[in-house]
Amino acid sequence: MERIAQTSRARVYRGTEANLGRLARALRRGELVAVPTETVYGLAADALNPRACRAIFRAKGRPAADPLIVHIHAWGQLEELAEPNEAARILAAAFWPGPLTLVLPKRPEVPEVVTSGLPSVAIRMPAHRVFRSLLKRCGRPLAAPSANPFGYVSPTCVEHVVAGLGRRIDHILDGGPCRIGLESTIVDLRDPKHPRLLRPGAITREQIAAALGRPVAVGGGKRSGHLPQVAPGLLKRHYSPRTPVVLHDHASDSAWRKARPDEAWLLTVKPVGRALPENVFWLDTRGRLPDAARRLFAQLRALDGRGFSKIHAELVAGGGLADAINDRLRRAAARG
Ligand code: AMP
Ligand code: MG
Repeated sequence: MERIAQTSRARVYRGTEANLGRLARALRRGELVAVPTETVYGLAADALNPRACRAIFRAKGRPAADPLIVHIHAWGQLEELAEPNEAARILAAAFWPGPLTLVLPKRPEVPEVVTSGLPSVAIRMPAHRVFRSLLKRCGRPLAAPSANPFGYVSPTCVEHVVAGLGRRIDHILDGGPCRIGLESTIVDLRDPKHPRLLRPGAITREQIAAALGRPVAVGGGKRSGHLPQVAPGLLKRHYSPRTPVVLHDHASDSAWRKARPDEAWLLTVKPVGRALPENVFWLDTRGRLPDAARRLFAQLRALDGRGFSKIHAELVAGGGLADAINDRLRRAAARG
């Protein structure tokens, strides 16, 4: 045990052997633990314990109709929880451990609360060293959505978790800032001949199509008619700061130079040269996409805390990771 965050009941643990052992036992007892992953911090519980999984929904204020992703560390667990097909084996071999979630037909062992009653389950093998070591010690698959109150921007460092859930949970494992900073790519493989990208992420649609040797459709499509309507992966408004966000395809110099002082501008790249107004911010000094992705949520949170009346955000040019960043910016900007 390391420190007790101020005005919070949660303890923040470093990933020492002793702490990992302690937290693995807590998870086996059905307690919740916030965990670091390479995408965002997750709020984990034993995926085979329905009572523990219900506590995730309560702590987050998450609607029961929004299914959870199950995290595994060993290949054998995939077959215990789901019915993998050839496409799943190809993508798992290519991208696991990593930021890719596969939706597959589920096995009866997976509790209904995890999948919101769906006959499918979403599974990922994460790459984060500390989380993997906790998964291994715990010996159970862990269900984990992002470790934040439902609807708010996902947490990418331990301070974000403490701020959002510190009063609602007991254990937070610190694994440092998240390397990727965006939630996992989700691919629906229920029909292996027609893979669908449900959520863009660091593993791009192009990479998935290349690995499978077939095109990948985007979105839930008609076939997802049976998915719960309120799944935020499919809901427009999600990952949202409280401050209204306005999107711009391209932020011209004149636009942000003339900006009102009470409105912030979040640009992709730091403008060069002349002195910059105090209300102008950027995702990366050189516009490198992985760095921009890693900083996106922290920047949105920081700007949200500064009392601006509006955040003007510039969409990122290019495909691949830019699609994932723009997807999160669009959700941040969606109202209602
Ligand atoms: P997150 O909010 O990051 O935990 O991501 C969970 C998202 O994964 C959900 O909102 C759904 O879009 C998707 N998902 C999880 N489980 C399933 C499932 N069984 N079938 C289809 N999509 C799922
Ligand atoms: Mg979430």
